[in-house]
Amino acid sequence: MDKQAKIYVAGHLGMVGSAIVRRLQAEGYTNLVLRSSKELDLREQAAVRRFFEQERPEYVFLAAAKVGGILANNTYRAEFIYDNLMIQSNVIHEAYRTGVQKLLFLGSSCIYPKFAPQPIKEEYLLTGALEPTNEPYAVAKIAGIKLCQAYRDQYGCNFIAAMPTNLYGPGDNFDLQTSHVMPALIRKFLEAKAKGSPSVSVWGTGSPRREFLYVDDLAEACLFLMRHYNEKEIINIGTGEDVSIKELAAMIKDLTSYEGLVEWDTSKPDGTPRKLLDVSRIHALGWKHKTSLKDGIKKTMEYYLKEQVA
Ligand code: GDP
Repeated sequence: MDKQAKIYVAGHLGMVGSAIVRRLQAEGYTNLVLRSSKELDLREQAAVRRFFEQERPEYVFLAAAKVGGILANNTYRAEFIYDNLMIQSNVIHEAYRTGVQKLLFLGSSCIYPKFAPQPIKEEYLLTGALEPTNEPYAVAKIAGIKLCQAYRDQYGCNFIAAMPTNLYGPGDNFDLQTSHVMPALIRKFLEAKAKGSPSVSVWGTGSPRREFLYVDDLAEACLFLMRHYNEKEIINIGTGEDVSIKELAAMIKDLTSYEGLVEWDTSKPDGTPRKLLDVSRIHALGWKHKTSLKDGIKKTMEYYLKEQVA
């Protein structure tokens, strides 16, 4: 990827896309093609076709997706499967038609079976049933992987697929109904502290374990893979370390200096018991995350306080 290469970052206003753009710009890439979803609805085949024919990008980071936490995934099940299937089918097919040199598709750790052995190796894909709360999203993402692999098999396209673990950081969604656990807890504890509330409600039992990767580390990994990875097999991106939701809540409580109580709302689902990726493949290639969980949470708290995200 030379510095003048024409690069399309799909989803550049989202948390992941905006981190990829920041990283590309910091490394001196100036020829970026960006469209908001208002300017280009990636679910519309004809619009995506026109866009690729006009712009003819050389590289594509496919970070556009409908995403959300456990409740959003479980509530908007149709939107999670339809929007994601449409976005990725249109982008991948038009990338093939217009001869894109390389495309990176971003999946998710929820593509793996609910009860996969831990840590989760790439080859566990499609070896067992999925977690029901996010099955529509996971099925769409699995189709995205299979699209990349089939276009490589039949047409020789250099389309790669990476599976990031749970992500967090600046640009995250802090809406308590649709967000993931990290932004939700940062917001809940900061608000409870500011208002002097006696307790904070955390969902589920607290026993599920999750791995968290700071989004700027993910962006760095995406550029690394764009430069160094050309295989058909999917590749995990994570830290290789996980915490229980109980430990995470205690950490955020501590970092926000909140002194009230933590209450567990067991009417809300736990989801997958554990989701820890085996990251030995990406480590062997020479990439490792840099941001500790504590530093990442602090930076995300600063972002939330500065932006006062609604
Ligand atoms: P998941 O990784 O797909 O399950 O997505 P989430 O990040 O939404 O949830 C991870 C875990 O955190 C689940 O066990 C949730 O029940 C738990 N959790 C605890 N409190 C919250 C909260 O306020 N919001 C969300 N989204 N999850 C929470």
